[in-house]
Amino acid sequence: APGTELVSLQGIGKSYGGVHAVRSVDLSVQAGEVLGLIGPNGAGKTTLVNMVTGLTPPSTGTGVVLGAALTAGTKAHRLAQSGVARTFQQIKLFNRLSALENVLVGGYRITHDTLLRRLLFLPSARRFEREAVAMASAQLIRVGLGDKAANAAGDLSYGDQRRLEIARALASHPSLLVLDEPAAGMNHVEAGRLSELIRSLAADGIAVLVIEHNVRMMLATCDRIMVLNFGEVIASGKPADIARDPKVLEAYLGSA
Ligand code: ATP
Repeated sequence: APGTELVSLQGIGKSYGGVHAVRSVDLSVQAGEVLGLIGPNGAGKTTLVNMVTGLTPPSTGTGVVLGAALTAGTKAHRLAQSGVARTFQQIKLFNRLSALENVLVGGYRITHDTLLRRLLFLPSARRFEREAVAMASAQLIRVGLGDKAANAAGDLSYGDQRRLEIARALASHPSLLVLDEPAAGMNHVEAGRLSELIRSLAADGIAVLVIEHNVRMMLATCDRIMVLNFGEVIASGKPADIARDPKVLEAYLGSA
């Protein structure tokens, strides 16, 4: 339900040797909420979401991600996988497969075990195939690519490819969606459409955690924004407050 806390981290940190990539960060995300992470290069944004999604175990701190405990020293990747989907900084599509096939592949990969189990019990694999195609088509429509299902992914525009990646992530029916620089390389119009898409996903009850350098888009899209610098949260709050926070302006512009 909207408002349910899906991610709750306290004092989470990660160091690599002597480098503190993330220091003692508190972070929470609710169902239906868009939380933005901004900050200069190397600020620790990717490391932080890697801990949330279970790719990287934290060095310090504790937390809960979708009901699974996240504690320093635990094998995080085993705990936090189901219900979390993400896209990455680099586009990772199968260029020669159609948009629809890319979504199907995404759904299969993420829920492979479940699907195998279902295949064994379904009266016919055909029925299953129809269901899978219907589900994948629905995700394409959701991101505005309903009319491009048959197009090769490699032939899509940059903005469409980014949205296709989101459709593929949605194929696993995540309750938490993590987007890593989804507007990278997008023009103004494409970024505007992406912003609307992110808001519509939140309206469907998904918690969205987004890293993005396009600050203007973030201000227009997020419910809350956390600003990281040198692994620490230097500001956190509503977009309007973030936009006029002197510490944020300093971190971005390098002026006092
Ligand atoms: P960007 O916007 O460039 O993606 P970021 O905010 O995502 O940057 P991180 O990638 O999380 O920042 O990096 C934070 C710091 O941690 C950097 O100093 C980086 O060099 C360091 N770091 C990240 N991953 C590792 C690693 N696997 N080993 C050693 N140092 C790392």
